[in-house]
Amino acid sequence: MTLTGTCRCAAITYSLSSDAPIAVYACHCTNCQTWSGSSFALHSLLPEGALTLSGPLTEYAYEENGQHARHYLCGTCHTRIYNTTSAAPGLWVLRAATLDNSPQLTPMAHIWTRHKQAWLNLPQDIPNWPQSPTPQAFMQALAALR
Ligand SMILES: [Zn+2]
Ligand SMILES: [Zn+2]
Repeated sequence: MTLTGTCRCAAITYSLSSDAPIAVYACHCTNCQTWSGSSFALHSLLPEGALTLSGPLTEYAYEENGQHARHYLCGTCHTRIYNTTSAAPGLWVLRAATLDNSPQLTPMAHIWTRHKQAWLNLPQDIPNWPQSPTPQAFMQALAALR
């Protein structure tokens, strides 16, 4: 299955081939709330290099709590497409709502729920963590859902 995505202005387009359905999770941390201007962010962990991108990507890098993060965004409209972080080596973190089929995505897990907005009621039958799970614990939980 090939999935496609775009930024807000469509200067960036990308495609992604995946054998399994894409696993999307919601991050409720305060950084994601601030950065998205919304209640939570929808992410998907992909193997490094999983996206074939075209268009004017620009980069924003920072260091926080000893972790190095690099975010890749459209050079025109500044929509973030994905990021890397030294906390999860070998993975790309896709901003899943840039996928063309994003209305059909359902989060398979919720993280940082201790910061979730109070009005939001989460389903009880899917994995959630009050903070961030280790990448290993998280990948195990997602693999168990498949
Ligand atoms: Zn754009
Ligand atoms: Zn977050």
